[in-house]
Parts: sequence; structure tokens; C-alpha cells
Amino acid sequence: MRAIDAGSLGELPGALLLDAALESIPHGFCVWSPQFRLLMWNQNYCELYGFEPHHLHAGMALQSVVDLSSRIGNHPEQTSRDFYEAYSAELLANREGARLKSQEVARGGRIIETAHVFNPALGWVVTHEDVTEEIASTEAIQKRKLELERQNLRLDAAVNNISQGLCMCDPRGRLVICNEPYVRIYNLPDRLVSPGTQLEDILEYLFECGMTSGGTRDDYIAWRRDVIASGQYGKTVHQFNGRTIMMQHHPMKDGGWVSTHEDITEQRQIEARIRYLARHDALTDLPNRVQFLEEMAHVEAAIARGEQVAVLYIDLDHFKRVNDTLGHAVGDELIRQAGVRLWGATRENDLLARLGGDEFALLLRPIASEADVAKVADRIVKAVAAPFRIGQHQIDISASVGVAMAPHDGTDTDTLVKKADMALYKAKAEGRSTFHFFETGMDEELQQRRHIEAGLRAALARDELRLVFQPLLDLGQNKVGCVEALLRWDSADGPISPAQFIPIAEEAGLIVPIGEWVLRQACRTAVAWPDEVRVAVNLSTVQFRNKDLVSVIRSALADAGLPARRLELEITESLLLADNEATLRALHQLRAMGVRISMDDFGIGYSSLSYLRSFPFDKIKIDRSFMRDLTTRSGNLAIIRAVIGLGQSLGMTTTAEGVETAEQMELVRNLGCSEVQGFLFSPPLPPEALAQLLASRSWAPRALQKAS
Ligand code: C2E
Ligand code: MG
Ligand code: MG
Repeated sequence: MRAIDAGSLGELPGALLLDAALESIPHGFCVWSPQFRLLMWNQNYCELYGFEPHHLHAGMALQSVVDLSSRIGNHPEQTSRDFYEAYSAELLANREGARLKSQEVARGGRIIETAHVFNPALGWVVTHEDVTEEIASTEAIQKRKLELERQNLRLDAAVNNISQGLCMCDPRGRLVICNEPYVRIYNLPDRLVSPGTQLEDILEYLFECGMTSGGTRDDYIAWRRDVIASGQYGKTVHQFNGRTIMMQHHPMKDGGWVSTHEDITEQRQIEARIRYLARHDALTDLPNRVQFLEEMAHVEAAIARGEQVAVLYIDLDHFKRVNDTLGHAVGDELIRQAGVRLWGATRENDLLARLGGDEFALLLRPIASEADVAKVADRIVKAVAAPFRIGQHQIDISASVGVAMAPHDGTDTDTLVKKADMALYKAKAEGRSTFHFFETGMDEELQQRRHIEAGLRAALARDELRLVFQPLLDLGQNKVGCVEALLRWDSADGPISPAQFIPIAEEAGLIVPIGEWVLRQACRTAVAWPDEVRVAVNLSTVQFRNKDLVSVIRSALADAGLPARRLELEITESLLLADNEATLRALHQLRAMGVRISMDDFGIGYSSLSYLRSFPFDKIKIDRSFMRDLTTRSGNLAIIRAVIGLGQSLGMTTTAEGVETAEQMELVRNLGCSEVQGFLFSPPLPPEALAQLLASRSWAPRALQKAS
């Protein structure tokens, strides 16, 4: 310690004592006179601010000490002057004796806390304490506290903002935290949600409120205990208050756990709906193909035990026509209403399913006899046969049914379904609106068709197709005006009639490439004939579904160099049946090009005279079936007379097909028919023979020639 006036105080034991006392103070210490002169200071004071022993002397002015202190690096944020002014003002301000604390920054960023006490006799007694470490540690604590608070807030937000209920327990099964959804799901009272509540108390309460799980209350509690003890994940579903809750148990490292609680009532309902939809048809609400096949799989076992079962395939006849002409909305409604009627025709144990489109299947079991099945099939046909009313439309439609019986026709689903389908096919072929049981031989028929189809696919490439030509005799001019091109197939199994393979080609879509080949081949052949002889080519209805038909015909004519006026196209009534605008447009386009259009095989099929008015045909060909008993059946004669009369009045050529006898020839000539085609005049001929016939110009009717 240093003293101002060594003389006045002397080397007294009291001064020594004071000196020793001051040096033992752990803080810096100094005394300033009321005139701001340094009176006393200790070693700690010097060390805090970095003063050397020679720097300070008694009576030194505060200003000088501050200057010196600044130079050493203390209070670096202020100038020495500013610091002096602030500090002296502070000293003056606390002359009332109040103890005043303030902090200042010393060298090296250390923080010194100073405390002044004013003593009127002595001046200011000032202590200086280095609080850097103390402050640092309280700041760290503060920061940690803030961080924790922030984390808590975040956890709180997370816990309360998830939609699932959440409940955390410590290793002793006491509640640590739970969130708002948890409280809400179980409608828990306040007393059960405070931290420390035993989980078992909560469970007790839940069971009192009517919670149910798979087993008893004790089962549930035992299960929870097991899961908790095992430290494994666990999951269960229980009912509470009419809701379905899924509980998941997630163990934590410390032996505690978190359970999540999710209300899955709606989810379960949606799942049930999806399961239902996967096995039902949305339009009719009937079981769908999936359920039908599932049921069939069960039935296989019953069949194996000797049960008799019937599988019925049901198909609406000409449904496509309804869709095409009245639109899909009406089509859908028709399916729906038909579904209702079919369902009405079945018994409780029967399974009626919609397989798709206008196809239904009915599984009858058990059944006693074929006669019983026939009754049901008949009921079904009749149920659909009554007219349907949809909006302002009355729709007459029918159903065909194919039946397969187990175990007679087969014992497995695949076989039964296939055979019912084959029987259905047969019912359709028999004129529809009827039912048919599967019969042996049907599969061979189908096999045969498949064989023909496969052969036909390769026929073009293998060069197995050829054309023959049948001349038509113009009765007025007594010469050939037209020659019909007819397709022949010399298959590997021998020749196959077009009447047999054309329908198969149509069904398989093969008629499109084959028809194009016929067209090109016919045009190329005809170009060598005399200019006044036309070639007639048969067109299938299926070919009209091809948008390019008109351009294909145009290119066939151009490639062969045949004028359009020398081509006749033969179409049948079935083409006009669909009343398709695109078809009519194509026909008009062709006619505008100069191509002639004939109505072939008129009189069979739908035989509506109105078709003759729907398009300005150039020719009507009366089907050869009318010729057969022309001389014996007066009805046929009347029809032919009417058609010829109509043709004449509409300005159409009329051709009698299938004229085989001189008698028939005379009859149709007398009726005013303009043209004849038939074996009497000429069978279809190979191209060379036909060319010869055209060149010889000898068309006196001859005896029946050998057909090609
Ligand atoms: P369609 O167009 O009515 O052809 C006439 C059929 O009557 C031919 O049978 C012909 O051989 C046969 N026919 C001719 N004169 C007589 C006769 O005096 N008596 C009898 N009973 N029959 C006679 P084909 O060649 O067997 O053809 C059958 C049907 O196949 C054709 O009937 C036609 O609808 C179709 N067809 C033939 N070629 C083609 C073709 O290239 N394309 C298409 N789409 N169909 C064809
Ligand atoms: Mg024809
Ligand atoms: Mg014909």
C-alpha cells in the first residue's frame, strides 16, 4: 500500500497494520481525495490495470492516472478524456454516501467492477474487482437456460401439433408429458394428465369409460405390461367411444416409452369401402369378376365333394347398337336395369356377377337337375326380353345364355367358364334370345375356328389366296356388263369356302388386309378386260371401320390404272344397320368418285326396304335363296316382283343371284329383272378362262358348268 503523507502518518504500527490489511484484500483498492488526488492504492489495483510501481505516486491527479491507464490499454472503447469525464461525474454524483457499482473494460477485455463509497473526511474509497470469469459463467448459464426454454417450446409445439395423441412415460410408468389430441381422444379429466400420473390409473379410467380391445381388460393390461417389459415396439387397435383407435408403443433408451394414439375410424371405413369396390361392380353394385372367380375357387372344393353346380354366361344381344345409337349414358342405364332384372331372377344362394361390358355370370348351387337350370336360364331370357324404358326411349333387347354343368362338363373354374362361354356363343349363333347348354363337339368347333384363323393369318404371305371371277349377264343387252370377283383359299388342308373363312377373317380383323389384297388384285385383273366390263368386289362391314378405306380404294384404282366407273362395290344390309354416319359419308365419297355401289344378298337378314332408300344404290342383288324354290313358292315370287318394281322406280339395276335353271331365268326375265348371275350362265372362273369367255363373246346360256 502507498500513502500520501508518510510524514504525518509515520511508520506507526497502525499504518503497518492498515498496509497489511489492504494488501490482503483480494480486490484492487484505492482512495481518491475530494480534489481527485490519489491517496492510497494497493498492489492488486496496480495489477488489475497494469500499472508499474513507478507509474503511480501519492497525490497524482485522477486525470493523469486516467491518461496513463488509457495508454496501457484500459477502457479501450473510450478516449481518455471521455472516460475521465464520465468517471469524475460518477464520483461526484455519489458523494451522498451511496455505494455505487459500475463496470468498466480493462486491458485484454477484462471486466472490472468498481464500487465507490464517499467519505467526507477521506474522499472516495474505491474497490476494483475482476468479474470477467463470473460474468462469463453466468452468461453461459443464461444462454443454456434460453436454449432449454426454446427447445421446450419447440417440443411443446411439436407434441401438440401432431394429429396423433402422444403420451410419454418414464421407466416407472409415470406420465411425463402428453399432448392435447391424447387428452381429446380419450376425453381425459385434468387429474389424469398431470405429470407423475400412473399409466395404470389412466388405463383403469379408460376401461371404466367403456374401452374395448380384442380380449378382456386384464388381457389388455397384461399385454401392455409385456410390451413395456420387453422394450420392443408394439401395436394394437381398440375401440373407445365408438371410435377405432390404433395405439403404437415405442420404447425409449432410458426404459421409458412413448405411445401414439391415432383415430383410424374413417381410414378403416375407407379401407372397407375400397375392399368392397375391389370386389363389386360400380355400375350395378353386383359382385365383379374378381369375386366371381374367388367364389368359383371355393366351389371347386364343393364340386370335388360331389356337389352339382351350374355356371351360366349371360350376354345382352346387340347391346353395342344401343351404345352406338343412344349413347353411353343410356347404355349404362340399360346395363344397370338389366342387372336389377337378372338379380330378381336369382335365388339367395346364387351368385350373380357382372364380368364387364354387357356380360354377366351366374353361379347356381347346389342344383338337382339340368331341368332346374333350364328353368332359371329361361327365366333370365324372359326377364330381359320385356321392353326397357329409359328416359323417353323404349328399348327392346334380349339376352343369350350359355350353360356349363359341373361335374358333367368339368370340375375346374377354367374349364367351366370356357364351356359356358362356348355354349353362349352357340346360343348367339342360334338367333339369340335363347339359352344353350354346353355339348361335346362345341369345343372341337371352336378349335376348328382357331385353326382356320391361324392358317388365315399366314395365307397372304404363303400366297394361298386367289380370285375367281363370275360374269353377270345383262339381260337387256345380252352381254356381260359386270364380273364379280370371289375369293378362294387353297389352304394347306385343302380348299376352304369363303362362306366358312370370311366370317372368321372378319372376327379376327384379318379381313382388312385380305380385303385390300382382293381389291388391288381385282382392279389389276379387270384392267385387261374390255372397257365396258366392270368388276364387282365384295366389301365386308368390318372394312368400313377402317378410316382409310376410301383412300385404299382410290390407290387400288390408281395403281391398276382402272377408271372408277369400272368398279362396283358390293355391301350388305348389315353395314347400314349400325346407322353410322361415317359409313354413309364413305359411301357418298365413293359414289362421287364414280364407283358404283350394290346392295348384295338383299332379302335375307333384316330385309328392310327402307335400307334401299337410305342410300342411292346402283344395283340390288336379290339373294340366291329366293331362287331356290321360286317355281314352287309363290311368296318368293311376290317378294322378287316387289323388289324389282322398287328397283325400277328408284332407277336401280336388279340382279337375280343363283340362277341355275332356264326356268328360273325365264321367270326373272319376265318379272323385269335386269341382270342374272348363276351357274346356268357361268360359274366363277379362273382369270384366264374368264378372259377367254369375254373375248369369245358367245354368251348363249349354256348348261350348268362345273363350279370352280
Ligand atoms: P356373294 O357375294 O353373294 O357371292 C356369290 C356367291 O354365290 C358365291 O359364293 C358364288 O360362288 C355363289 N354362286 C354363284 N352362282 C351360284 C348359283 O347358281 N348357285 C349357287 N348355289 N351359288 C352360286 P362363294 O364364292 O362361295 O362366296 C360366298 C360369299 O363369300 C360371297 O357371297 C361373299 O359374301 C363372300 N365373299 C367371297 N369373296 C369375298 C371377298 O373377296 N370379300 C368379301 N368380303 N366377301 C367375299
Ligand atoms: Mg357378292
Ligand atoms: Mg350375293
